[in-house]
Amino acid sequence: MTKWVYFFGAGKAEGDGTWRDLLGGKGAGLAEMTRIGLPVPGGFTISTEACDYYYKNGKKFPPELKKQVAENVAKLEKITKKKLGDPKNPLLVSVRSGSARSMPGMMETILNLGLNDKSVQGLAASTKNERFAYDAYRRFVQMYSTVVMGLSKEDLEHRLRAMRDRLKVKEDTSVPASGWKELVAEYKQYFKEKSGKDFPDDPMEQLWGAIGAVFGSWMAEKAVTYRRVEKITGLLGTAVNVVQMVFGNTGDNSGTGVCFTRDPSSGEKIFYGDYLTNAQGEDVVAGIRTPVHLTELGKIMPEAYAQLEKVRAKLEKHYKDMQDMEFTIEEGTLYMLQTRTGKRTPAAAFKIAMDMANEKLITKEEAVMRIKPEDIERLFYPVIDSKVDKKSLSSKILTHGIDAVPGAAVGKVCFSAHEAEELAAKGEKVILVRRETSPEDVGGMAVAQGILTATGGKTSHAAVVARGWGKCCIVGAESLDIDYKSKSMKDGKSGRVVKEGEWLTLDGGEGVVYADKLPLVTPEFPKAYQTIMKWADETRRLGVRTNADTPQDARKAIEFGAEGIGLCRTEHMFFTDFEHPEKSHDRQLAIQEMILANEKEARVKALDKLLPFQRRDFIGIFKAMDGFPVTIRLIDPPLHEFVPHEPGKQAELAKELGIPVETVARRVEQLHEANPMLGHRGCRLSITYPEILEMQVRAIIEAAIECSKAKVKVLPEIMIPLTLDKKEMAILADATRRVADDLIKKAGVKLPYLVGTMIELPRAALLANEIAEVAEFFSFGTNDLTQTTMGLSRDDAGRFLPDYVDEKKAGVFAGDPFQTLDIKGVGVLMKWGIEKGRETRPKLKVGICGEHGGDADSVKFCHQIGMDYVSASPFRVPISRLAAAQAVIEEKAAKKKK
Ligand code: PEP
Ligand code: MG
Repeated sequence: MTKWVYFFGAGKAEGDGTWRDLLGGKGAGLAEMTRIGLPVPGGFTISTEACDYYYKNGKKFPPELKKQVAENVAKLEKITKKKLGDPKNPLLVSVRSGSARSMPGMMETILNLGLNDKSVQGLAASTKNERFAYDAYRRFVQMYSTVVMGLSKEDLEHRLRAMRDRLKVKEDTSVPASGWKELVAEYKQYFKEKSGKDFPDDPMEQLWGAIGAVFGSWMAEKAVTYRRVEKITGLLGTAVNVVQMVFGNTGDNSGTGVCFTRDPSSGEKIFYGDYLTNAQGEDVVAGIRTPVHLTELGKIMPEAYAQLEKVRAKLEKHYKDMQDMEFTIEEGTLYMLQTRTGKRTPAAAFKIAMDMANEKLITKEEAVMRIKPEDIERLFYPVIDSKVDKKSLSSKILTHGIDAVPGAAVGKVCFSAHEAEELAAKGEKVILVRRETSPEDVGGMAVAQGILTATGGKTSHAAVVARGWGKCCIVGAESLDIDYKSKSMKDGKSGRVVKEGEWLTLDGGEGVVYADKLPLVTPEFPKAYQTIMKWADETRRLGVRTNADTPQDARKAIEFGAEGIGLCRTEHMFFTDFEHPEKSHDRQLAIQEMILANEKEARVKALDKLLPFQRRDFIGIFKAMDGFPVTIRLIDPPLHEFVPHEPGKQAELAKELGIPVETVARRVEQLHEANPMLGHRGCRLSITYPEILEMQVRAIIEAAIECSKAKVKVLPEIMIPLTLDKKEMAILADATRRVADDLIKKAGVKLPYLVGTMIELPRAALLANEIAEVAEFFSFGTNDLTQTTMGLSRDDAGRFLPDYVDEKKAGVFAGDPFQTLDIKGVGVLMKWGIEKGRETRPKLKVGICGEHGGDADSVKFCHQIGMDYVSASPFRVPISRLAAAQAVIEEKAAKKKK
């Protein structure tokens, strides 16, 4: 019989912290904390496998589950010496979600389950606190109605506000027992009106409703969106944790909090967190009240605080990572409700990993494994340019809030997630402003440059989600009065009003909001980043190059640690003069003249005009790379991309070149192709027009000769694109060598160079053994190879690919194959291509220069199949360096396992 339910309590647990896949992060954490003797309330976890079963069987529970839940409830009743629904001393439970990967606030929770008209009296009697008991009851009815039955939160809140007004009280804490009693009756009445059923009194019926709701929340829109944004795939579902309730809201001797073993923003080794006195469960996370700093707890309840400090030390040592913990203090007694690996800012991720390795808590390799590609992506937070005058800066302050996630952000104000998404889709930068965020807002938060909320602390939903994304966030800007109706906000202190669509700048590091568009700059690399990247470089085998077309990009890439250029797309130089953009028109005209020429002689004349431009660009790049290899690709795109299609522009061009406009129009018409991506492009152009190849090779070699004469070391690698055959490659390689060798001989210098090809077509991969006879290196152009293998257009597939990735729609792919290599399909061709190529030429140099060269998972695959290097765009070079190191560490671990 399948075991679906796992118990923990009284110092024992049927599972441990490693069982995350089965018990979810929360369940595994509770089991582990129970085992190591921490104060954890008892309970049980329904496995993620049960959730998987539920969805695979038309939303039906496994048949054995009922019995197993009943048995575990009985066990829990035994160790707590309380009974569900008992009119004297009732057991109450919380029912919480928790999958293997943390998804803060995305799924459901129900608290105080087990209350009904009878047991509430038992709770009142046993706690000697009627007010508290009825408050707990109304919270339960409220949560059950919204979470399980999907009734309107707003309708219920409205009734709560009306009751407070009736009683003339401002705070919930001032509502007497009779007020809560009334409200429970009203809620139940509402429940009946809306659902046609009585509110369930039977605790077991309540429990099953809650379990179903938690499973249901796995597929809720917001959860699915969060998984998509976070690229979380391959999970079975959510577990359900049923845990004995402890109460943080029984009075001032109780409270609840969230804390981190180190500062999740800076990574400093300090105890960090938020605490709310006399509050229950989710109040801190929901950001409804603004909590106090954890150190205050030390003053209010020194004993409980000291105990919490001990738990902090024990948990960090035990898990060897920064922990994010939830706790409740009930009448002075501490209970741990959750521990998990804490989300942190990218800068903190580097600092914590480095410090822990230096503290010998983990190894250097473990420290390298701790960094995620996103940490690097998000490391270089922009900040407000320090050149902005301090006085003018302070005159622009709208308000202050809590600095939840550092970095600065500029954008136009949006007051709803939906509008933020719409505006961002139009290419606008937006700042999402909300009173508080809820998981429904996650889509808008993802597209926003920054997030601002009027309530909440550093562990509120907005802060936790934004931190995970490294996104600038300010919370608890309490003086802001946000009016969703008029789409505006007013600061109570400064009196300033900001309307939707106006510019805002957030300084997440300082918690300051400016009512203006301020200039931002990107800061220097932090020290911990340099240290960890050094460890990564010492570990990796793969070389990491960059895709760069200009000396500026090449220099930037060197700063990021590139060891050469893996792809220089020469045609980009036809469009733009990167050193002197104002002179770009000269070279555009030359290439257009070449294309419009109807005989070789005229083409050569035009090409001669282009030659000096290209030569100068190559000199700049060679100098920037200073001895690193530079792979230069010959012309690749179809010629129609270089000439104008609109009649007006054609007339202008004709006039400039002194030719009839009909000639231009006719030539453009001739160049038209039904499938230009599969048309006259790549090396096919050089077969038709060898003079283009000759000019480009001449420019490369002449630049190299000039550099080597000036004592700049150069290693040119000339690359033929889109090759599909050995004979084709041989013709072009011969032509290349003829031009190059002649120039080198005449110059009387020694200049080693290579001639190789891109592998971008399945046929080239399949016939790699033949092609390697004439190619000295391969570089996989996986943008085209993905397009040609999958039969999906790299330019247009984005329109329907979301359906292919969407779990709810088709879920055919785990991700976009143009972003992360399709290892299953395209990967087979790559592996074959390398093996066959090296059968012919054992020392064949192999790299990759498609976008995948900057994608961590793809880089790991490139390591596994024995490539020599990967090439990525400058900003992604550090990601590739890290992934290359992680590939080595993972390989070692896998070997050890065997
Ligand atoms: C490729 O196809 O992967 C490639 C690098 O070339 P391009 O993107 O220029 O077609
Ligand atoms: Mg290509």
